[in-house]
Amino acid sequence: SEPTPAFVAGLSLALNSDQSRYLTSVMRKGVGDEIAIFNGRDGGWTARIAEAGKRHVTLALTEQTRTQGKAQGPVLAVALIKRTPLEYIIEKATELGVGKIQLLITRRSNADHTKLERLKLIAQEAAEQTERLDVPEILPPVKLESFLAKLDVDAILFGDEDSTHEGDIRVTRPLLDVLSTLTEKRAAILIGPEGGFDDIERQTLRARDDVYPVNLGPRILRADTAAISALTLYQAALGD
Ligand code: SAM
Repeated sequence: SEPTPAFVAGLSLALNSDQSRYLTSVMRKGVGDEIAIFNGRDGGWTARIAEAGKRHVTLALTEQTRTQGKAQGPVLAVALIKRTPLEYIIEKATELGVGKIQLLITRRSNADHTKLERLKLIAQEAAEQTERLDVPEILPPVKLESFLAKLDVDAILFGDEDSTHEGDIRVTRPLLDVLSTLTEKRAAILIGPEGGFDDIERQTLRARDDVYPVNLGPRILRADTAAISALTLYQAALGD
């Protein structure tokens, strides 16, 4: 949706038809009711419903109740996997404070995945439910190699279950240990597809000094379990 104007007290804001229908038909709100709104930049505000048509609601902003948080959460770089677990990752990552989600194409990623627009909607709904003041950006799928070529983070926490597979998790470090060394750095958490990264991808990753192969314990986790547990540990160690 187009960027909303800067929020100020008294601003009159017209909602789009989906938002209007949601408020009037699903939430059963009407003229005079007060709601909480955010635009991802100006913090949390209360607003009163001034007009309430089925597909046309106008709000009058009353006051700012929450300031916009500064911290951006980590980037979650996740290979495309089947629809249900991918949608689950988007929703849970949003609740767990992810900064943005980069979808990845890898040699074993899943071509039959949820379309971007639907994932963006899931992120928006999860942000509203979890009362975040921003919606994490969902970036269209790119090849792993191009993601690595255009990095905007200092560290990649590479979920590397391979050594776990070989029963030797000494090759990787526990994620929590690595997180304690990352205080100021912008990090990406990298999670592979159902079939894992292949040997070439793994070698490419392990060869980089900005990549930290990490384990999430001695068992093989599904991609959604791995993404959620990594974000939970990140939030516990560095989150706000
Ligand atoms: N190689 C796995 C297998 O043999 O079933 C398939 C990959 S696993 C289902 C999906 C992704 O989750 C992996 O690519 C990895 O990024 C992450 N993952 C799973 N278990 C992990 C663990 N114990 N430690 C770190 N990452 C893990």
